[in-house]
Amino acid sequence: VEQSIREFIGETIRTIPDFPKEGIQFKDITTLLQDKRALELTSYMLAQPYRHKNIDYVVGLESRGFLFGTNLAQDLNAGFVPVRKPGKLPAKTLSESYELEYGEDHMEIHEDALFEGAKVIIHDDLIATGGTASAASKLVQRLGGEVIGYSFIIELSFLNGREHLIPNTPVESILIE
Ligand code: AMP
Repeated sequence: VEQSIREFIGETIRTIPDFPKEGIQFKDITTLLQDKRALELTSYMLAQPYRHKNIDYVVGLESRGFLFGTNLAQDLNAGFVPVRKPGKLPAKTLSESYELEYGEDHMEIHEDALFEGAKVIIHDDLIATGGTASAASKLVQRLGGEVIGYSFIIELSFLNGREHLIPNTPVESILIE
């Protein structure tokens, strides 16, 4: 049953070649969001591995990690914490840099976003190189949080993003390409 759910969700995601630049196969989940059955099944599949794990917070990554992040938090009876691009969060923040193909970028979290020892899931729509999720992991750890696992809709496994995440920590992806 789970395999057919994964296949169904996969069919609702559209691939746009050469967006936002040449050579990138962009995974567009707007078509998934439009489909009410895919929307419900994606929420279900994201929550499944982390039910009854006493998760305190889902940390969602800007911006498409916000789309399912709050819903996932509710399903896990957890709170939601946004990790955002620089200059977006209004209160005091911690910042963590990560490497891009050319140069680097930063992600930020509110200093008071979570309590020490909090059990955290990091969620985004997609993991590519793992740079974004790795920066988010460091922010959570700097605040004393414990990363219990990662949650993605799509994993581009040929980019080996998993290797940049915290070792021996579950990575749950609905679709692996
Ligand atoms: P990375 O830090 O390389 O793992 O990139 C992950 C972030 O970039 C996520 O927030 C994704 O939404 C976005 N992203 C990277 N590659 C793609 C892609 N091929 N299609 C859609 N989003 C992507």
